[in-house]
Amino acid sequence: MTDASSHVARGMVIVGAGEAGARAAMTLREAGYSGTVTLIGEERRLPYERPPLSKAAMTAVEEPAAATILSEAQLADHGIRHVPGVLVTGIDRSGHTVLCDDRTRIPYAKLLLTTGARPRRLNLPGAGPDNVLYLRDFSDALAMRTRLQPGRRLVVIGGGFIGLEIAGSALARGCSVTVVEMAPRILGRAVPAAVAATVAAAHEAAGIRIIAGVGLARIEREGVAEVVVLADGTRLVCDAIIAGIGAIPETALAERAGLTIENGIRVDERLVTDDADILAAGDCCSFPHPLFGGRRLRLEAWRNAQDQGRHAARVMLGATAAFDAVPWFWSDQHDQTLQIAGLPDEGDTVVTRDLGGTTLHFHLRDGRLVGASAFGPIGKVAREIRLAEMLIARRAHPPETALADPLVKLKALLAAESLAA
Ligand SMILES: Cc1cc2nc3c(=O)[nH]c(=O)nc-3n(C[C@H](O)[C@H](O)[C@H](O)COP(=O)(O)OP(=O)(O)OC[C@H]3O[C@@H](n4cnc5c(N)ncnc54)[C@H](O)[C@@H]3O)c2cc1C
Repeated sequence: MTDASSHVARGMVIVGAGEAGARAAMTLREAGYSGTVTLIGEERRLPYERPPLSKAAMTAVEEPAAATILSEAQLADHGIRHVPGVLVTGIDRSGHTVLCDDRTRIPYAKLLLTTGARPRRLNLPGAGPDNVLYLRDFSDALAMRTRLQPGRRLVVIGGGFIGLEIAGSALARGCSVTVVEMAPRILGRAVPAAVAATVAAAHEAAGIRIIAGVGLARIEREGVAEVVVLADGTRLVCDAIIAGIGAIPETALAERAGLTIENGIRVDERLVTDDADILAAGDCCSFPHPLFGGRRLRLEAWRNAQDQGRHAARVMLGATAAFDAVPWFWSDQHDQTLQIAGLPDEGDTVVTRDLGGTTLHFHLRDGRLVGASAFGPIGKVAREIRLAEMLIARRAHPPETALADPLVKLKALLAAESLAA
């Protein structure tokens, strides 16, 4: 690590006080940086976790509090200057200064963009801000809770992770729920079809209606109710509509600053943009992944945001390593967990292992393990996926027969890899 003192005068500036930004700020301090650290965020809150928004924050009986990542005391203890409620509107790259909507200008030595993503809006006749809800921030979650009262009829548009989690939470709150997915099946390409089918079955068994493979025509008003009209003429009368149809990386600031955008702010393997003093991390950036032949990825995942935030902070202080953490994602669906390590869609072969009522899927490419996925009780899934993740990190080529055999411990396969290395 280089001497950080050269950055003291201008300091480190982080734009976006979410998961990646908060972790980056802490890491700068943990790595011994003693200059100013400024964490600027548009939201008027302390940095908080988003995953609970579609889970505990939705199902809690009493109005929940945001799950803060950094408290006032932690910010003070670490000398992190948090600037809430301020939107950064411009970057003066030659002057090394960010411009804020409160007319302040903050100079930087290194700048990290952790601006996240925003929900994709539904483009449909009749859809507007008054009748379609979206979930990204804590205020959205509070607004959604008040609409999801027992007995209400909810239509969720989009059968992705967040839409399905909201569907499960709304059911738990006593709503009747229909999920509409335009694609032939829920959960899209990132989740193998067999796993998606198990998730769909769990939702249907719980009482959620899933309609897949049908497009949307329009939204109509019928008295005090809304009607989601499908392309085949089906009319879904409801009291609330929530759209979970994906997220768009928040790149406007980077774009205005002339940085390259390629499905997010384009960074290299160290998370540096095409300006050597500006980095990006988390949901807002796309990066080449060394484990997958440099394939450019943009991940919307909690652990990735944490890991990239921390990595970017170290690079701001002079580290040169590539970011190569194995992608990992989890989603809670009813009382079970869906976990994915690596990139299942990189695989050309699937091998399954029976975990006693839960199926673990291994995804191999030319014999190399590139992904693993499972849906089931956390006690069965988490440890196996963790071990699979370690095998993926080592670019392991485990024998298919061993992967399929539950009597062969993944830990033993890992030990064999270590010996071979
Ligand atoms: C409802 C929900 C449930 C989720 N559940 C899971 C889950 O179960 N598992 C999982 O792995 N992941 C989950 N995620 C994804 C995970 O939360 C995100 O990947 C993570 O929060 C991304 O962190 P980030 O720091 O990149 O962006 P964010 O946490 O979105 O933070 C970005 C921040 O930057 C601010 N900002 C943007 N532009 C500016 C600007 N110009 N000036 C100042 N501030 C700005 C934004 O207001 C925001 O506060 C979920 C996400 C949501 C929304």
